[in-house]
Amino acid sequence: MFIRSRNLFLLGVFSILSVNLLYAAQGPLKVVTTQAYYANLVKEIGKEKVDVKSAASPKYNVHFIQPKPSDIRNVAHADLVVYTGMDLEEWWGPLLEAAGRTDFFPGREKSADLSRGIRILKVPDHPLSRAEGDIHLFGNPHYLMNPENAKVMAGTILEKLKEMDPANVSYYEENEKAFISRLDQKIGEWKALCSHCTGQEIISYHEDIEYFADFLGIKAEQFLEPKPGVPPTPKQLQFLENYVKTRSIKAVVMPTYFPKDAAESLAKRIGAKVVTVCQNVGELPGTEDVISFFDYNIKEISEALK
Ligand SMILES: [Zn+2]
Repeated sequence: MFIRSRNLFLLGVFSILSVNLLYAAQGPLKVVTTQAYYANLVKEIGKEKVDVKSAASPKYNVHFIQPKPSDIRNVAHADLVVYTGMDLEEWWGPLLEAAGRTDFFPGREKSADLSRGIRILKVPDHPLSRAEGDIHLFGNPHYLMNPENAKVMAGTILEKLKEMDPANVSYYEENEKAFISRLDQKIGEWKALCSHCTGQEIISYHEDIEYFADFLGIKAEQFLEPKPGVPPTPKQLQFLENYVKTRSIKAVVMPTYFPKDAAESLAKRIGAKVVTVCQNVGELPGTEDVISFFDYNIKEISEALK
């Protein structure tokens, strides 16, 4: 009698365990991304089969995010993580460590480095030192600003979701295909809207604009920062004022989170406009997904360069 009830008890425990395992296998894949832009890409491809959260609020400068306790909890319970790679998000490694998830370290199976397959701009031809102020030692990591690169990133995310959830391969493939086709159509519209931008020159606060400029055929080689990560100096502003004397510059561009005074003062002196170009999905109202983010940015620059 005792043996029988113990067996019944064990059977009960195993049933609960297997129901839980079954539930875990069928529940949405829990994904944490560094940025809201990537969370939107994951959602476009995974739809209801993924539960996605991003760590960096688009209101803040992505180079210097302070992760919150909820970010640590989200990473601790995640199945997959997605990040920029290179050295844009220096806070990401410490966050993974704080969450105790060394299995998410770069190069590991459940970790998607979106820089894979991207043509990186400004790869230095000599070693740089962070001591001199540079914050990007491996080339420009702001590749999300070119919508063509969103296609490469979507491909990387698709491969990872297929690996992690083989039962839904065709579902993810169909969603990715639909997203790419929508993006391709928009890319045509954006290029047409900004066809007059090609060949024009702008000045940017940080080098976060280069991929965006590259996409539209705009020249962006001068920055308010004398070096990436070093705030504008009077000397740099004087240099820029002299630089534009022989050129036509209609726009000084920057995202929302840098101080605006240097850009405004320069723009006033050279007769240009300060233009907001968002660097992350959701940075301003109406930019909540990748498509509306580029819609906004390209409309803004197109207007300014007319
Ligand atoms: Zn940067």
